[in-house]
Amino acid sequence: MGEFALELNDDQKTVRDWIHGFAADVMRPAAAEWDEREEFPWPVVREAARIGLYSLDFYAQQFLDPTGLGVPLTLEELFWGDAGLGLAIAGTGLAAISVFTNGTDEQIGTWVPQMYGDANDVKIAAFCSSEPDAGSDVAAMRTRAVYDGAKDEWVLNGVKTWATNGGIADVHVVVAVVDPALGARGHASFVVPPGTPGLAQGQKFKKHGIRASHTAEVVLRDVRVPGHCLLGGKEKLDERLARARERAAGGGERGGNAAMATFEASRPAVGAQAVGIARAAYEVALDYARTRVQFGRPIIDNQGVAFQLADMRTRIDAARLLVWRASWMASAGRPFTAAEGSMSKLFAGETAKKVTAQAMQILGGNGYTREYPVERMHRDAAIYTIFEGTSEIQRLVIARTLSGMPIR
Ligand SMILES: Cc1cc2nc3c(=O)[nH]c(=O)nc-3n(C[C@H](O)[C@H](O)[C@H](O)COP(=O)(O)OP(=O)(O)OC[C@H]3O[C@@H](n4cnc5c(N)ncnc54)[C@H](O)[C@@H]3O)c2cc1C
Repeated sequence: MGEFALELNDDQKTVRDWIHGFAADVMRPAAAEWDEREEFPWPVVREAARIGLYSLDFYAQQFLDPTGLGVPLTLEELFWGDAGLGLAIAGTGLAAISVFTNGTDEQIGTWVPQMYGDANDVKIAAFCSSEPDAGSDVAAMRTRAVYDGAKDEWVLNGVKTWATNGGIADVHVVVAVVDPALGARGHASFVVPPGTPGLAQGQKFKKHGIRASHTAEVVLRDVRVPGHCLLGGKEKLDERLARARERAAGGGERGGNAAMATFEASRPAVGAQAVGIARAAYEVALDYARTRVQFGRPIIDNQGVAFQLADMRTRIDAARLLVWRASWMASAGRPFTAAEGSMSKLFAGETAKKVTAQAMQILGGNGYTREYPVERMHRDAAIYTIFEGTSEIQRLVIARTLSGMPIR
C-alpha cells in the first residue's frame, strides 16, 4: 500500500510476454515484406484478431489496468516487433479513444465494437483531424459540419489528410468546424458510419517509413450523418458553444492554438511505441557489436562503440520511465501540470530517431542495407518526431504549461 515500486505484477508480465511472442514469431518475420509492399497487412491484423490481441476486449482490459501500464507495455512490445505492422494493429485505437473521450455511453457501446469487429470479420477505424492547411495549427481547420434540422442530419464537407486507415476504414471519426467564429472551440467530432455515401479516399501516401500502415487523404462531399453521430450529442455541443461565445464576447481568448492539449492523453501511448522501436534497434546493435570483429577484436571493445551503446540504453530507459510516469498519472486522474504527456512523447520520439541512427552506424555497411532490420527501424522512427504533435509542438506545449506564457 502506497509503496513506490516499479516491479511489474504477474498479470502484466504474462501479457507482455504473450505480446512479445506474437511480435517475435508473427510480426518480425513478416515485417520486411509488408514494408516493401506498402499495403495494409490484413493477414497480420487478422492473425492478431484470431488470438485476441486485436480486439476491443483486450484493449479495454489494458486501458483499465489501474497502474496505467497496460497500454504502454502492450505498445512497446508490438512496436519492438515492427512499427508499420504495429501501427496497422494499433491505428484503430486513436479513433476508439476519441469516441471514449467525447462520446456518450450509448455512442461508445454502438461504435467502438464496430471499429474492431470480431475475429471472423475484422474491422478498422480512422481518426481524421489533420487537413492540408491545418496540421500543427488545428484551429485553421476548414472542414465544415452544418446541421440540417429538418432531417436531424449533419452535412460534412472538406478534405482531411494524413489519416491513418483513411478511406479503407469501416468507421471514420471526423473532426469538423461547427462555428468558424470560435476557432478550435467551434470544433466537434462526428462518426461517419460504414458505407456512408460521399466519403472517399483521396491520395494514398507513399512514405519514408511505417509503410505497412495505410495513410491517405479522406475527401468528404455532402456526407450526411444522422444527428446521433455527433459525439457527445447536440445538447452538450450547444451548451459548449454558448459558453465559448460568452467567453469570446467578453474578450477572452478564442482558444485552439497549435494543437494544445488535443492529443495530450494519447501522447504517452505514442511515446511507448517509440520506445519499442528504439529498444529493437539497440538490441540488434548490441548483438552486432559483440560479434563483429575488426582489428582482431569485437568492435564493442572500442570505447567509441561501447559508449554509444551505453548512451543508447540510458536514453531508452529514461524514455520508458517518462512514458510510465505519464501513463500512471493519466490513469490515476492526475493532471499533467508540467505537460508530462508531451514530455514523454517528445523524449521518446527523439530517442527513437537518435538511437536508430546510432544503431545503423554501429552496423556499418550492413546497417545501410535492407538485409538488416535497423535500416527499416531508422525510417520508421522518423515519424515519431512528426505525428501526434511534432517535437516543436511538444516543446511549445511544455514551455507554455511551465511558464503560463503564450509562447509562439
Ligand atoms: C504517417 C502519418 C500518419 C498520420 N496519422 C494521422 C491521423 O491518423 N489522423 C490525423 O488527424 N493526423 C495524422 N497525421 C498528421 C500529423 O499529426 C501531422 O502531420 C502533424 O501534426 C504535423 O502537421 P503538418 O504535417 O501539417 O506540419 P506543419 O504543421 O506544417 O509543420 C511543419 C514544420 O513546422 C513546425 N512548426 C509548425 N508550427 C510551429 C510553431 N508554432 N513553432 C515551431 N515550429 C512549428 C513543425 O514542428 C514542423 O517541423 C499523420 C501524419 C503522418 C505523416
